[in-house]
Amino acid sequence: MSATLLSSQSELDQLHGAGKTIAFVPTMGALHTGHLALVTKAQELAGIVVVSIFVNPLQFGPSEDFERYPRSLDKDIALLPDGVFVYAPSVEEVYPGGQEAAPLLHAGSVGELFEGAHRPGHFDGMLTVVNRLFNLVKPDIAVFGQKDAQQVFLVRSMIQQQGLDIDLVVVPTVRETDGLALSSRNVYLSPEEREAAAIIPRAINTVVTTVKSGSATDAIASAARMFAEQPLVRLDYLELVDPATFLPVPENYVGAATLIVAAHLGNTRLIDTENLEIVHA
Ligand code: AMP
Repeated sequence: MSATLLSSQSELDQLHGAGKTIAFVPTMGALHTGHLALVTKAQELAGIVVVSIFVNPLQFGPSEDFERYPRSLDKDIALLPDGVFVYAPSVEEVYPGGQEAAPLLHAGSVGELFEGAHRPGHFDGMLTVVNRLFNLVKPDIAVFGQKDAQQVFLVRSMIQQQGLDIDLVVVPTVRETDGLALSSRNVYLSPEEREAAAIIPRAINTVVTTVKSGSATDAIASAARMFAEQPLVRLDYLELVDPATFLPVPENYVGAATLIVAAHLGNTRLIDTENLEIVHA
């Protein structure tokens, strides 16, 4: 036994007949333990769990890894627990008039910062597919990973702006033993890059520890120095943002903050995040 692949839109619609709460976990497949943590949370919260597996062309830039993104549907279905429903639509089902003609949702100014600055249009494509999948699956609950903090912020804003009746549940990041966040893109790393990638969680821990006794500026500076000493890793950004706005925290800010980081290892780009509290201005 494994998860059940839904073979048509009408099978998806029939799930609503049972009168049970539906929790939805959108993914791009190549599932790992991080995705499975989202599924476990969904199972705790709802009688029916739908996992979508869809590599969304709209959220990849022309020079990005859409073609080579790992795809392993059979393995993914086998990994998922019994009783879970898998929805793996084609591009035509998601974008009936063609992906070029799909009406785009706009992520606004926050969508142009950080990941959006590096990946123009990425968040418009992400919000468009999440919105479309919400319309198709019609969940009561949607489960996302904290690892993609900017994605969570923008999906939450979209739910609020559109007045959708969906509870957004966020699950903490699942990590390897050396702290590296699990990601479908980790398979791209060479053994040397994989080892070097541990600098990302180590730098995050440095910031988390340093802000307990010192200033946020000093904490960021010490973590940035760690990256400067690791030649295989090229830091893109390391920033503290206000979780309410996703904008960089102002000088002398005290309160809850989200640390966000993105770094390149060769052609692979990894992101990570941690929530913390700035206590010293
Ligand atoms: P993806 O397949 O990469 O689009 O991710 C699908 C969902 O899994 C997103 O909500 C991600 O934030 C979440 N996710 C990815 N990696 C992890 C992880 N290491 N721990 C927890 N959730 C994750």
